[in-house]
Amino acid sequence: MESLAVTPNLTMLRINGWQLYVWRDGDSATLVDTGAPGSGTEIAAAVPGIDRIVLTHGHVDHVGSAAELRESTGAAVMAGAGDAAYITAGAQMPPAMFEDWEIPIFERVSAGLPAAAPAVPVDQELNDGDVLDFGGGAHVLAIPGHTEGSVAVHLPEHGVLFAGDTIANVGSVMLGVFNQDRSRAVASFKRLAALDVETACFGHGEPIESGAGERIREVAARLAA
Ligand SMILES: [Zn+2]
Repeated sequence: MESLAVTPNLTMLRINGWQLYVWRDGDSATLVDTGAPGSGTEIAAAVPGIDRIVLTHGHVDHVGSAAELRESTGAAVMAGAGDAAYITAGAQMPPAMFEDWEIPIFERVSAGLPAAAPAVPVDQELNDGDVLDFGGGAHVLAIPGHTEGSVAVHLPEHGVLFAGDTIANVGSVMLGVFNQDRSRAVASFKRLAALDVETACFGHGEPIESGAGERIREVAARLAA
């Protein structure tokens, strides 16, 4: 496992090729996503005091270790209402509407991943406008498009955004790939671009420690639906 300090409260963990985030308020830790299945023991050992697990969406590389972690830590699992039924059932998510150029990338990155994550109860379904009790008040934004139930979490007090897979930063800031509905994903990207954000964390690629909002806005301005 690789650990990257992003800000004093925020760490990115990379494990078995996937990534997730840890937000700390004193002794209490919040995980944003959980990586692929089979990483729970290692994550729990590295992160004391996990109280809640926020899932940005239902894809297996984000939900994968949530069941193991909920079982071992008792943390509450939270996910967008639109993906919660799939997560609870351990069901495969609806397929993406692939762009032609995405297909070989998908075949490469999905090799070795199961089609769905182990079933895990969703203790709290998240809806637009919900405010969660961490990070000085964590604002939930429903951002459909990548998946129906994708959510972002914005911590206005800290200028931090967890964008899930709606935004990626692989080489450069871009619309995330493998979207269920690209035009809705673009609209969601533009909504995130309007937020006051200093630090941004993505499901894939490097987090941006400072000046993230400006970089996201530059990309949003030339992103066509
Ligand atoms: Zn995804």
